[in-house]
Amino acid sequence: MRKEFKRTDYCGNFNIKDIGRYVVLNGWVNRRRDHGGLIFVDLRDRSGIIQLVFDPQCSKEVFELAQELKNEWVIGVKGYISKRPEGSENQKISTGEIEVIVDKLIIFSKANILPFNVNEDENIDEFIRLKYRFLDLRRPKLQKNIELRHKVTQEVRRYLTDNGFWEVETPMLTRSTPEGARDYLVPSRIYKGKFYALPQSPQLFKQMLMVAGIDRYFQVARCFRDEDLRADRQPEFTQIDVEASFVDVEDILSIVEGLMYSIFKNVLNIDIQIPFPRMSYREAYLKYGSDKPDLRYNTELYDVSEIAKLIPFPPFQDREVIATKVPEKGNISRKVIDELTESAKGLGAKGLAWLSFQEELKGPLSKLINEGILDRLKRDTNLSQGDLLLFVADETGKAREIMGRFRLEINKRFFQPIAPFIFTWITDFPLFSFSKEENRIEAEHHPFTSPKEEDIPLLDTEPLKVRANAYDLVLNGIELGSGSIRNSEPSMQKKILSILGIDEEMAYKKFGFLLEALSYGAPPHGGIALGLDRIVAIIAGEESIREVIAFPKTQSAFCSLTEAPAEVEEAQLKELGISIKRKEE
Ligand code: ASP
Repeated sequence: MRKEFKRTDYCGNFNIKDIGRYVVLNGWVNRRRDHGGLIFVDLRDRSGIIQLVFDPQCSKEVFELAQELKNEWVIGVKGYISKRPEGSENQKISTGEIEVIVDKLIIFSKANILPFNVNEDENIDEFIRLKYRFLDLRRPKLQKNIELRHKVTQEVRRYLTDNGFWEVETPMLTRSTPEGARDYLVPSRIYKGKFYALPQSPQLFKQMLMVAGIDRYFQVARCFRDEDLRADRQPEFTQIDVEASFVDVEDILSIVEGLMYSIFKNVLNIDIQIPFPRMSYREAYLKYGSDKPDLRYNTELYDVSEIAKLIPFPPFQDREVIATKVPEKGNISRKVIDELTESAKGLGAKGLAWLSFQEELKGPLSKLINEGILDRLKRDTNLSQGDLLLFVADETGKAREIMGRFRLEINKRFFQPIAPFIFTWITDFPLFSFSKEENRIEAEHHPFTSPKEEDIPLLDTEPLKVRANAYDLVLNGIELGSGSIRNSEPSMQKKILSILGIDEEMAYKKFGFLLEALSYGAPPHGGIALGLDRIVAIIAGEESIREVIAFPKTQSAFCSLTEAPAEVEEAQLKELGISIKRKEE
């Protein structure tokens, strides 16, 4: 690069105080306009945009060169910062009051016509965006997201370091970690027929670091999970992974609250309220039909099954009937009710019953409801004049789950959130759950989570009733992360594994190294992992984590840029001792 064209400043950082300075700038041609004998170019770099002016009176030669410039060419310019003529200011950009009168220009490189415009926010097919991610990333919105991610990551490092945590890297080529997903496997060339697994999380290593006396660990850890394709999952993602020794639940929650406070304060200059409110898993499920309630809306669910039995309406009989209230929306039109019914059905409801509580009752149920029933409904759901009450009836559990999701749709449709960010802890999760598909008990979090002390006696008798020392952090209805206090006692760890159907022989085969480590003096320890991608996406106001990851995969786990996964050379397979069986045509 020519030394004389090394930039003195970034484009977006100037303001009127810089008027009169002679500067050198480098960047991309965002747009060129020829107007009134002058050429105007918006020059863009990662900091923003500034207007360049090419005037033939200033330099004929430079003006002629500028006539060739096209979008996305990379150039260097020299010139004086000057005030824009009265009336030609641009309020939309931070440098809108000034421009650069250029007297020197160099073209560093030319650009082919782009597959899409990067200087406009247009709707581009995601496959194309990801195929040309290096262009997509030029767009200011994505540049901001990448910068935000950087800032959040650095704040995480700073806060945790200041609080005594050491950043330690754990292996990528390892053995399976049970986090409930499939592993990505990497074949070994040296040990033919054997495979490494990419980590689903650093769980086992961080626990061993505690046994090793590292005391407080963190890692900005890449994790790999080969899950079925679900909305907004990536096969590889990043966790802020934390573990600490000699701690209880309170310690971990307050470390994380401090971390979140610092991120919001130091990156966004927003004061969030800490400590965060806490809610038991059971309360969340009963009130919101979900273990990640969105508390930006204050409506709840009400179990009205008992009252509903008294209403002579066949779909309500012998069913769980869950109601939710839509405050002050009693007067919505029939058409809107029909739309709501359709969206409830879209969530799996068999139908939607409704009651509008105005001067008089309205809705198909109104004729079936006597005063006694109405009084009970009013009392149980805190109903006020003008409210709308919606009901879904189904099998036990199902109605509540449907209503949980429906509650969100209703709120998003009718109401503004009461605050932009609402955190909550969900605690007291069950230690186990029963998988109907697999017909066996599974770990609700993972097998290393400890039971609550007072529930230990239930382990032998009613394991599904045992609550765990586990916690989830939820922000705006999105789970940011989970953690737990672990089983630091080998005997308790073995017991939990045996309840999960993993006998001692199998346990030693799968994670004997952890069980062994625990037997050499393990401190009580616990931790958490928080999804970095999700935190940044929420702060950036993005719907998808793909918008805050530099090179994400498509929703079908494909990299349209590198076209991975891809076939490999026969020779490479041979070296690995692998042969591919092709499906018979
Ligand atoms: N390993 C857990 C996970 O990835 C987090 C934890 O328990 O710390 O979800």
